[in-house]
Amino acid sequence: NASGKDIATPTRTREVLEKYGFSFKKSLGQNFLIDTNILHNIVDAAHLDKSRAVIEIGPGIGALTEQLCRAAGRVIAIEIDQRLLPILGDTLAPYDNVEVVHGDVLELDLAALFRDKLKGYEKVSVVANLPYYVTTPILMKLLEERLPLENIVVMIQKEVAERIAAKPGTKDYGSLSVAAQFYAETEVAMVVPASVFIPRPNVDSAVIRLKIRDVPPVEVEEEGLFFRVVRACFAQRRKTLLNNLMSGLFDKTRKEEVIQMLADLGIEPSRRGETLSIEEFAQLANEAVRRQLLTK
Ligand code: SAM
Repeated sequence: NASGKDIATPTRTREVLEKYGFSFKKSLGQNFLIDTNILHNIVDAAHLDKSRAVIEIGPGIGALTEQLCRAAGRVIAIEIDQRLLPILGDTLAPYDNVEVVHGDVLELDLAALFRDKLKGYEKVSVVANLPYYVTTPILMKLLEERLPLENIVVMIQKEVAERIAAKPGTKDYGSLSVAAQFYAETEVAMVVPASVFIPRPNVDSAVIRLKIRDVPPVEVEEEGLFFRVVRACFAQRRKTLLNNLMSGLFDKTRKEEVIQMLADLGIEPSRRGETLSIEEFAQLANEAVRRQLLTK
């Protein structure tokens, strides 16, 4: 801000919290960042400039929001906790390119938010230190709604970041990895110690960058069916691919046809679902549709 006094220092944060008698709500995943260097790294990872806009989820007292206001042309910050609104009015007063929207990001109509508040911005990113209790639903909502986003740069639990970026055949690889990598190029930008938050979270954190793809990496005829196949293949990790497919997806009476299809695709039925690449999941889903093997 004008005085150059960042919100995200331990002293300033404590001052603000004390002034408003704010008490953290664990149930809302409230762990505030108190390290300016980390904030700069997050903002750098999002490649912002004044022609770009940002949606922040959960601004807290505005530590990250302030840095976003300096780097981007426009910032829309969505906060669920009403108690933070007067605080944000105060801490963000020096910035005229920010609007705080009160609401639950999972309930909000984000497409309408784009139309109403981000008109004229071609490149919009989501940048946030996410509330950890809803990391996956928030990310899935952002990805599945196919919002015209450029990047999603978010602080999340390290373990979830590793799952998102995991490669086939590793223990972390699962339906979340496939979903994220279907919509985006994924990269763990940095691992972050618990000491940069108050209160300290009980888990390690990481910043992940999802660069949204213009086109999916594989051709999928029916997206809904593709993800049904993926979920079925990961349903029970100790089962073979064939057993998972037969118990979760295909009609039991058509087992021979499923075996034939896998043979034609060159996919060994005794493999585990977690060894299949996104391309193989796509081939499987497309072929099952073609052979009319999937029960709706
Ligand atoms: N951005 C701040 C920072 O880095 O210091 C705060 C991050 S804190 C981890 C998460 C924030 O998300 C809190 O301010 C919390 O109130 C808010 N929040 C929690 N659930 C939310 C939801 N469903 N929709 C919008 N905001 C939410």
